[in-house]
Amino acid sequence: MVMDAMRDPVRDDIPSPERAPTEPEQRSAPASGSVEIELARYASELDAFRAALDRQAIVAVTDRRGAITLVNDLFCRISGYRRDELIGRNHRILNSGHHPRRFFVSMWRTIADGRIWHGEICNRAKDGRLYWVDTTIVPRRGADGRIESYVSVRYDITERKQAEAALADEARRRARAETLVREILDAIPDGVAAFDAEDRLVLSNRAFRRLYGAGPAGASDGLTFREIAERCLADGRFPEVGRSPSETAAWLDARLREHRRPGRRHIRQLSDGRWLQVRERRSPSGHIVSVSSDVTALKRAELAVKQRAERDALTGLYNRAAFGERLERMLCDDRRTKPGALVVVDVDGFKAVNDTHGHDVGDALLGAVAERLRAGVRRGDVVARLGGDEFALILPGVTRPRTAEDLLGRLLAQLGAPLDLPGRTLFPSVSLGCAFFPEHGATPDAAMKAADLALYEAKAAAEARGRETGGRGRFRLFAPALRESETRRRALVAGLREALVRDEIVVALQPQVTLRDARHAGFEALARWRRGGEVVPPAAFIPIAEEANLIGAVGGVVLDRALALVRRHIDAGAAPGRVAVNVAAAQLKDERFVEEVSAALARHRLTPAALEIEITETVLLDRAAAEIGGTLARLRALGVGIALDDFGTGYASLAHLRRFPVDRLKIDRGFVEGIGRDADADALVGGIVDLAHGLALEVVAEGIETPAQRAALARMGCDVGQGYLFAPPLPPEEIGTYLERMRPSSLAAAG
Ligand code: C2E
Ligand code: MG
Ligand code: MG
Repeated sequence: MVMDAMRDPVRDDIPSPERAPTEPEQRSAPASGSVEIELARYASELDAFRAALDRQAIVAVTDRRGAITLVNDLFCRISGYRRDELIGRNHRILNSGHHPRRFFVSMWRTIADGRIWHGEICNRAKDGRLYWVDTTIVPRRGADGRIESYVSVRYDITERKQAEAALADEARRRARAETLVREILDAIPDGVAAFDAEDRLVLSNRAFRRLYGAGPAGASDGLTFREIAERCLADGRFPEVGRSPSETAAWLDARLREHRRPGRRHIRQLSDGRWLQVRERRSPSGHIVSVSSDVTALKRAELAVKQRAERDALTGLYNRAAFGERLERMLCDDRRTKPGALVVVDVDGFKAVNDTHGHDVGDALLGAVAERLRAGVRRGDVVARLGGDEFALILPGVTRPRTAEDLLGRLLAQLGAPLDLPGRTLFPSVSLGCAFFPEHGATPDAAMKAADLALYEAKAAAEARGRETGGRGRFRLFAPALRESETRRRALVAGLREALVRDEIVVALQPQVTLRDARHAGFEALARWRRGGEVVPPAAFIPIAEEANLIGAVGGVVLDRALALVRRHIDAGAAPGRVAVNVAAAQLKDERFVEEVSAALARHRLTPAALEIEITETVLLDRAAAEIGGTLARLRALGVGIALDDFGTGYASLAHLRRFPVDRLKIDRGFVEGIGRDADADALVGGIVDLAHGLALEVVAEGIETPAQRAALARMGCDVGQGYLFAPPLPPEEIGTYLERMRPSSLAAAG
C-alpha cells in the first residue's frame, strides 16, 4: 500500500488505517469497580477533550490505503461534504490543484516512513471554494509495528493565508510603485532630493547625484545636508563661495539657515559654469524636499539681456545708465562710501573728425578711445561711454591728487598714440576732468558735476592755448575754486539775459580797407556788451551765449544794430559800404534765419548787397552741414555776401569751399602775424591768396598791425585788409568821424 501510495501519491494522497477501532469499542473495555470509576472519569475527560478538539480541529482518519474512515463535523462543515460522501473516499476529493506533485510525494515519503508530517495545504470544498488548513498527519502503527492508519488534524488557516496573501500583494504593489517612482524621479532632469527630520538624505534622483556628486565623495543616502554641502565645498563645486576659510564657513552657515527655513529660491553657479536654481520646501510629512534645476540657458539669456541693457553697442563699454548705477552703488549703497576718483573724458574735435572723415572713421576713433581707456585702467575700474564722444571712468581707491595726476598723464599719452586707419592716420586727443568722491561730491550728481567742471576747465584751457599747441589733450583736477568760476559763468548767463532786455549789447564797427589803394571797403560788426561802466569783449560772452542758447538773440541784436548804423550813415550822406556780421552755426541751423535777415534788411531799407555774413570753418564742419549749406545758399541767392572767417585755424580745406557758396576768405590773424618774420608764413599766405583767387574768392587779411604786413600782403595780391593799422573796432559814436576822414575827397586832400 505504501508502495502504491509512493507510486501515485496524488491519487492516494492520504491512506486510511486498515482498521480503525470505533470509540464505543474502546469505551466498552471490561474493567473492575475502581477501574470503572477511573475509566468513567477518563472517558468524560476524553469527551471534553474531544469536544474541544472538535470545535477547533478538523480531524480525519484514513486507512493505510488512504481511504477516509473517519471525519469529524468540522471536517464536513469546512469541506461542504456530508460524512457519507467522504467515508471510503480518498482525500483527493479535496485536491485544489494548488500544490505541485512533489509536495505530496514528499508528504507521503514522510508519513509512509512513519514520521509525522506537518504542512499547510490548500483544499477545495465541495462548492469549489478554496480553504487552507494547517495539517499534521500522524501515522499509527499496529501491534505488529506496521502502519495501519493515519490521523490528520487540521486547523483552518484560510484567514491568515488570505491576510498573508494580501500582505504579499501589498508588498509587491509597493515595490512596483517604488520602482516606478524612482524611475520617474530619475527621468526628471532636475535634481530632486529629500531630507528627513534629522536632515539626512533619504531620497535623491540621478540628476541630483550628477549635480552634487555621488558615491563616497558625494551625496549618498544617510548623509546630512551639512555633510553634503561640505563635500561639495571641498570639491570646489561652488566657485562663488569665498576663498578664505572664514568666508566659506560664513557661507555654509548662511546656507544651512536657509535650508532649515526653506521657501526661498536661490540661484548659484557651479564650477563648470552651469547655473542652478535651488528651491526647497517642507513636505507635509516634514521632509525637506529640494529641487535643483539647471537654469543655465535662462541665466545666459538673462545675462545677455542685461548686457544689452547695460552696454554701449558701439564700444561694449558700460552705458550711461549702468555707469550711474555703479557710481550710485559706490556712493550710496553701503553706509560707508568707498572713496575714489571720477573722471569724465571728452574727445577733442570729435565732431570735426566725424564730419570731415565720415561716421565710420568717427566710430573707429571712438572704438580706439574706448579700447585705450580700458587698457589704461585697472581691472576693477569702471569704464563707460556716456554718449557721443563722452566717456567716464570710476577709479575706486584713487584718492590722492598725485596718484590721479600720474594716472591721467599716462592716460593722455596712451590715448594720444597715432591711430592707423585704412587710408589715414589720426592723432586722437582727449580732455579729462577729474574729481574725488566723496570729497568733491558725495552724491553721484555732485561728483559728476565736479568732474564736469574740471573737464570744462581742461577744455577751456586747451582752447585758450589753442593755436600754438593745437589745444589738445589736457586734464584738470577739480578744485573748489572751479565752483566759483562756474558760479561766475552762471551769473554771466543771467547777466546776458538781462543785457538783452536792457539793450546792453552794442556793436563796434571795424573798418576794412582795400590794400591796393587804401580806400574804405566796409566794416566788420563786432559785438560788445556794455556792462555798467566796462565793455565786455565777445570772447567773454559769445561762447556763453552759444552754450546758453542765447546766440540767436545776441546775433539778432548785432545784425539789427549793425544795419541801423549803416542806414544812419547813409542817411547822413556817407558811404559806409558793406557791413560784415559774424554768425554762429546755431543761427544758420535756425530755419527762420533767412527771413530774419531779409526782414532786418527791409526794416533798415538796405539791399542784401549791403550785408556780408561771416562764418567760421567749424560751421562748415558741423554735423548739420547740409542744413547750413542750404541756409547759406538762400542767403547767397538773396544777394548777401558770405565770408569764411579765421581761415587756416580749423580743419577745413579748400575742398570745403567748393561745397559752400563763399565769396570771400578771411586769412586768420595768426598767419598775418608771421608775415615778414617767417618765410614759411609768407609762402603760406601767398599760397592761400593764389588758391583763393583761383577759386574766384576775394581775400581779406585780418589783424594787420604794421605797414610791413600791409605792404607784403598788397604784394601778394591780397584784396582787403583789416587791423589796428587802419583802425580798431570803433564805437558807434566814432564812425561818423572815421567815414568823414575816409571820404575820397578827404583822402585826396590829405594827399
Ligand atoms: P573775428 O570775427 O575774427 O574778429 C576779429 C577780431 O580780431 C576782433 O576781436 C577784433 O577786435 C580783432 N582784431 C582786429 N584787428 C586786430 C589787430 O590788428 N590785432 C589784433 N590783435 N586783433 C585785432 P573781438 O572783437 O574781440 O572779437 C573776437 C571774436 O568774437 C570775433 O573774431 C568773432 O569770432 C567773435 N564775434 C564778435 N562779434 C560777434 C558776433 O556778433 N557774433 C558772433 N557769432 N561772433 C562774434
Ligand atoms: Mg569775423
Ligand atoms: Mg577772424
